[in-house]
Amino acid sequence: MGKLEDVKGIGPKSLALLNKMGIYTIDDLVTHYPFRYVYLERTDLTKAENDDHVIIDGKVESTPILMRFKAGLNKMNFRLVTAYGVVGVSIFNRAFMKKELEVGITVTVIGKLDKVKNVITASEIKFESLKDKVKIEPVYHLTNGISNKNINTFINMALLEFGKEITDYIPKKYQEKYNFQTKRMALNIVNNPPDKEKLDESIKRLKYEELFVFMFKINYLKNLKKNSNVGIEKKIDRDKVDKFINGLKFELTGDQKKAVNDILKDMESSYRMNRLLQGDVGSGKTIVSFIAMYANYLAGYQSALMAPTEILAVQHYNNLREILGEGFPVALLTGSTTKKEKDEIYKGLMDGSINMVVGTHALIQDDVKYNNLGLVITDEQHRFGVNQRGNLQNKGIKPDILYMSATPIPRTYALAIYGDMDTSIIKEKPKGRKKIKTYVKKKSEIKDVLTLMLEELKKKHQIYVIAPLIDGADDASSVTDLKDKMELAFGKYFNIDIIHGKMAGRAKDLIMREFEQNKIQILISTTVIEVGVDVPNATTMVIFDADKFGLSTLHQLRGRVGRGEDESKCILVSDSDTKRLSIMEKEDDGFKISEEDFKMRGHGDLFGTKQSGDMEFKLANLKNDYDLLIEAKKDTDEYLSDSTFDPLKLKLLSTLNSNS
Ligand code: ADP
Ligand code: MG
Repeated sequence: MGKLEDVKGIGPKSLALLNKMGIYTIDDLVTHYPFRYVYLERTDLTKAENDDHVIIDGKVESTPILMRFKAGLNKMNFRLVTAYGVVGVSIFNRAFMKKELEVGITVTVIGKLDKVKNVITASEIKFESLKDKVKIEPVYHLTNGISNKNINTFINMALLEFGKEITDYIPKKYQEKYNFQTKRMALNIVNNPPDKEKLDESIKRLKYEELFVFMFKINYLKNLKKNSNVGIEKKIDRDKVDKFINGLKFELTGDQKKAVNDILKDMESSYRMNRLLQGDVGSGKTIVSFIAMYANYLAGYQSALMAPTEILAVQHYNNLREILGEGFPVALLTGSTTKKEKDEIYKGLMDGSINMVVGTHALIQDDVKYNNLGLVITDEQHRFGVNQRGNLQNKGIKPDILYMSATPIPRTYALAIYGDMDTSIIKEKPKGRKKIKTYVKKKSEIKDVLTLMLEELKKKHQIYVIAPLIDGADDASSVTDLKDKMELAFGKYFNIDIIHGKMAGRAKDLIMREFEQNKIQILISTTVIEVGVDVPNATTMVIFDADKFGLSTLHQLRGRVGRGEDESKCILVSDSDTKRLSIMEKEDDGFKISEEDFKMRGHGDLFGTKQSGDMEFKLANLKNDYDLLIEAKKDTDEYLSDSTFDPLKLKLLSTLNSNS
């Protein structure tokens, strides 16, 4: 391949400057991508407002008048005839342009409009017209001595002379699949965009290539590891699984079916499953895990399902029992399980008479021994520490592992970093789900809130009321405090009770059970009900001092309602931070909400882990280009498993040794 100094126009001086910018090769140069684009679109001056940033072309009508001030400052004024009439232009410190700014010449002026004086204070003047309506200009990172124009010219020269030598890492098959341009063409377009559409296509193509190379490495290394990661090859009676699925109260969504299939395939393979099941709140992850447990039972192995809270463990246990029917050997093991019960469960797990166990951390105590643990599932697993997870994995010889999470970012991010997990995503919500109507209300509007609550209660629906604190404090609502208020408003006709983390396990159980059975109509709670709780008849949630919570938490909380067919409501009561809260009114996608929260609060690390140095891309961004990453992952998987020889594979493998 040619050298940087072989590119026409790059002399020793430019070469030194380019080196200073970290550009040493032609490849470095052509991937010195614009970091942004300026869209030059002619402004309609008659519609522009005072102080607007405007772009307008026209003919110079008067010889520029130059004024010089102290300290080398100068200013030039002239008039410009535009399609929208004559406008004055002033520009500072461009005395050197005076000669070129002849009367009659066409220029484009970019600057700020003073509507009153009818003058544009220009920041830039270009000696050309805005021929087409829009002109897209690439903007590069620069160093002193090299202009934007220089870089653009160097890149274009390099592409012209050496474009053919640039390695294109996307195999033909995938170029065709996505209808991508050649790399050379895409590079040409990102540096000289003809229009937005082509530009976006080309950027996507180049991003995909970065991600493809990245995922190729990850998947290659993972396969090496996998070969040493032998699991149990399970025999699953698929007919019986199908029968089980057909016997459910509802039909699985397409995404649920796909997830089930992914999981069963993993379990049947000789590899050990290590899969993340990701889906927004309410997407129906639980039933998928139950099906996996049932299949695991059919194969003759034990399953353990671990939940982060006792409330959730109890709920899963009850659901599981209901689905599997009386007499099925399922046990519940939590912190509240009595010593006597515990001993019995331990015994049953050890001799295999208990097939499934649902619980909290209690599942991973040292004295729990399993007979033949074949499947471990952790629900909302981001809440567990890494060690806790590890501990349960080691309980079986090589149990399959399934993680479930509604929090999209940390785990999926880990997938990209470590590539140690496969992912199934449930995007599709169960049929008939309606968007949860969300409103932000001021404390002074409490009457409206109570009216709304009453309407729901009259419809025989139940309500969650959430407070940030358990006990009274002046600056925020508390559970006890709200209990008094709710009693006053509704106590005469409805049952109201409280639940929070400081209550004993048994007490929490009882309350949850009563709420499930509609013996309690208003349940006042802290965020202990944040994860997983599922009572479809509860259609309304009122969150007091909502500003005290992050949007992701609010989204999780809100996910407790909207679980049945009835329309659900969520009311956020707060006097402050209403702009941030109003995002909840519009948005119902958990991923977008956490992003918005991040943007607005502007601190904290969205991912929980910093993007590590070895995976910085020039164009792609793991967060924004997640869908593309998943595509690249699938494609590289397929590409690696295809054993036909392809010289590109060697090239891709050679990137394994480089640091990028
Ligand atoms: P999450 O993904 O948040 O854990 P759940 O598994 O708790 O969600 O499911 C939410 C609710 O949706 C539950 O009441 C569940 O029974 C119901 N559900 C799950 N899948 C379906 C489906 N395919 N059709 C209808 N309802 C479903
Ligand atoms: Mg759940």
